Amino acid sequence: MVILRRRAEGSRTHKDMPLHLKMLTPERTIYDADVDQITVATMDGEITILPNHIPLISALKPGEMRVIKQGADIPMAITGGFIEVQPDSRVEVLADAAERIEEIDIERAEVARARAEEYLREKKFETDVEYASLQAQLERALARIRIAKKYRKK
Ligand code: ATP
Repeated sequence: MVILRRRAEGSRTHKDMPLHLKMLTPERTIYDADVDQITVATMDGEITILPNHIPLISALKPGEMRVIKQGADIPMAITGGFIEVQPDSRVEVLADAAERIEEIDIERAEVARARAEEYLREKKFETDVEYASLQAQLERALARIRIAKKYRKK
């Protein structure tokens, strides 16, 4: 019986596995749960992940991430990081930072945008690294503003 039960458990294929999302930022665990669907902007374009997606590793772009969980659509702003889709429908997202819509402070993002634009305009940078960091700051701020405005309009 034990052997038979073990075989039955072992015969569970990857196809039966629910999509499991583990999403971490340096500060918190945002998800460690089964979800229906994940859509995220990667450097190679937007991808939507359902159970049994092919395995992949990709870098994330600052932009929108949407998780559908128990039928509810949960949009977020994400500022970059990595996604790994494993063969058994397990997905790991390591994000630099991520905020749900209601957590986005638009005023703070506007200040960050104005500061980055001013520094770029006035050439207040000395190295390529400082220039790239200002560009990245601007991109993060613009993504937060765009996503907050898109969903708060509704
Ligand atoms: P700032 O210059 O305003 O700090 P930043 O783009 O440099 O912006 P990040 O390094 O991306 O900030 O994020 C640092 C932390 O602050 C993260 O926890 C992130 O979620 C949070 N954060 C940054 N900007 C905002 C915002 N506009 N609204 C809500 N949380 C934010």
